Amino acid sequence: MGEPRPAGAGDPELVEVADGVYAYLQPDGGWCLNNAGVITGRSGAVVVDTAATVRRAERLRAAVDSLGAGPGRTVVNTHFHGDHTFGNSVFGPAATVIAHAGTRTEMAETGLGLTALWPDVHWGEVRLVLPDVTHHGGLTLHTDDRRIELLHFGPAHTRSDTVVWLPEERVLFTGDIVMPGCTPFVLMGTVEGSLATLERLRALGATTVVGGHGRVAGPEAFDETEAYLRWIQDVAAEGVREGLTPLEAGRRCGPQEFAGLLDPERLVGNLHRAWAELEGGELGRPLDPVAVFREMTEYNGGRLPACHA
Ligand SMILES: [Zn+2]
Repeated sequence: MGEPRPAGAGDPELVEVADGVYAYLQPDGGWCLNNAGVITGRSGAVVVDTAATVRRAERLRAAVDSLGAGPGRTVVNTHFHGDHTFGNSVFGPAATVIAHAGTRTEMAETGLGLTALWPDVHWGEVRLVLPDVTHHGGLTLHTDDRRIELLHFGPAHTRSDTVVWLPEERVLFTGDIVMPGCTPFVLMGTVEGSLATLERLRALGATTVVGGHGRVAGPEAFDETEAYLRWIQDVAAEGVREGLTPLEAGRRCGPQEFAGLLDPERLVGNLHRAWAELEGGELGRPLDPVAVFREMTEYNGGRLPACHA
């Protein structure tokens, strides 16, 4: 099962991926240590996702402010998960928050539930700020003469993910649909939908891929994610044939060639989703995340998945 990772995990890093376009990386990219994006212009900055805790969101805000963009602040939430949205409030009432309509609904429904999974994290005075503007599949922002396209390709990591695509710069912010170096996580989304979405993302022709966690990558990150998800489907098909539960199948096979990816216990959550898809029904239909989280802890030898937020 390996040694627990050291706590703390290093300082955030701002990487310029195109002129005035930045990836804000929070090492090591594990649970709740998400990436953000910052797109700067004379009128202001577009911030792609915030952070999990107040302290981390304030640090992100300071990094955004250091870039010398104009005063406007637009925050795009790629999906409802708290590590990408809890920091919205730190950007204040003058910031406009944009997300897919489904993301807004899921944020309202789940509230601050994530904080209960890791009670030892110093979340700070987290306050839910829901999006002011919602889209149903596409929206274009214009910053100076830069085009920023918000796109939705169907259910994937969640049921309502938004990716942020800069067609001129060929930079793509994927949210958690892609997480280079980390184990994919589709418990609240879909394996099949993720595979279809990866096809659509590949077709955009990005040269730089900033995932929702992990290092800055290129289009090879799509292949790595796809390989993992196809393997999950194979393991699930075999497990169902043999009458195993997702936890039993996960314990028996282990992460195999994907052992190098961060947070391998997500295997159990991913298998639950693949199992649900083999039973049929609507893609991304809700499963019980708390029960599955308990099983991921069990898979982990009784240790809570490591969260260093
Ligand atoms: Zn997520």
